[in-house]
Amino acid sequence: MVLRDLPSVDELARASDDPLAVDAARAVIARAREAIRRGADPGELTALFQEELATARRPALRRVLNATGVIVHTNLGRAPLAGAALERVIEATRGYSNLEYDLSEGRRGSRQDHVASILTRLTGAEAAIVVNNNAGALLLALAALAEGRDVIVSRGELIEIGDGFRIPDVLARSGARLVEVGTTNRTRAADYEKAIDDRTALLLRVHQSNFRVVGFAEQPSLAELSTVARAGSLPLLDDLGSGALLDLSDEPTARASLAAGADLVCYSGDKLLGGPQAGIVAGRADLVERLRRHPLHRALRIDKLSLAALEGTLLLYLDPERAVAEVPVLRMLREPADAVRARAERLAAAVGGEVEETVARVGGGALPLHELPSFACAVEESLAAPLRERDHAVVGIVRDGRLLLDCRTLADAELDEVAAAVASCR
Ligand SMILES: *Cc1c(COP(=O)(O)O)cnc(C)c1O
Repeated sequence: MVLRDLPSVDELARASDDPLAVDAARAVIARAREAIRRGADPGELTALFQEELATARRPALRRVLNATGVIVHTNLGRAPLAGAALERVIEATRGYSNLEYDLSEGRRGSRQDHVASILTRLTGAEAAIVVNNNAGALLLALAALAEGRDVIVSRGELIEIGDGFRIPDVLARSGARLVEVGTTNRTRAADYEKAIDDRTALLLRVHQSNFRVVGFAEQPSLAELSTVARAGSLPLLDDLGSGALLDLSDEPTARASLAAGADLVCYSGDKLLGGPQAGIVAGRADLVERLRRHPLHRALRIDKLSLAALEGTLLLYLDPERAVAEVPVLRMLREPADAVRARAERLAAAVGGEVEETVARVGGGALPLHELPSFACAVEESLAAPLRERDHAVVGIVRDGRLLLDCRTLADAELDEVAAAVASCR
């Protein structure tokens, strides 16, 4: 084929009445020109045009089958939602809802009312408020409680979470001033005590979510910090990060932190809680009320889809056994290695792969040292790219020339789909 044999953009686009047809035809012809110039075969243009259109129509945000073994995988959407939480989203957002309407009084209500009481029940807090994410929760708490004043933080807790979220930057944006105490590895209660003066508004403790300092290291306990805060009549805010509601290894729970003397805790909805993206603040009612009235609350407010999913997730926690069975993050964390191995064996038998022992991770900046025994099905590395390209992408780990499909983060119900995907990519 030579350049002048190419159809015009309009001629090619005529094959479809899709509004995206002209753009698709233009892209296909540009690539065909390029191919002809290189002396290559431009291919069957009508077929390429249909393919281009299908790609343009495909949703950009797609389902992924997570075969990485990282449970709270931030790049893959963190926590998958429980079925019951999804049902709440559909039920509450398909039509109208009482999002900000008090049905018993027949007048304006607050979106916060839908989850406040269940949050206080689950954490033992007096009050709670929910915003868009935990970064927002921290920003709001600092702005409402410490704007123009000092916040004391240990140097060992001036952390970066991921994607450039740094505690000192958030503090600066909130309008509060950072006062650093102690050293990277050792900070004592007395360091906070000495730093308190009449400009101090708040003591902040930040959970070292995604790293641990080992060796010659010391941080005061929450109870010690609380004693210092009380003596100075200052609130103590504990940024818990992942916000486990059940006891999970050495991850602090909101209830334990409040019981140990934190006045407020904040945590994510989509890390170990296993719900939607959200930031939850719980604790003393007078402090929560200040957050509620701050103008940033409106800017950071949680949307109705997330709120519905959060309520649906929290309702499962009223019965902890039900939460462990139905909240996917908890199920994956707690699943015995034998069950994971059985799944890997089933997948390996279906696709002709090999079972490989692996180590799964909690991810999401939680329990960084926690290794979960796991098993993967190993297949050829060349499958990695085509598996990622599918409508329902399969993402695994490439290691030593093979693709490992870790079965801790795959559900039983997803196994047939993964097997079919592998077969179709060969
Ligand atoms: C993850 C994390 C955050 C940020 O939470 P997002 O919900 O991702 O906004 C803040 N603080 C700590 C300690 C964290 O681990």
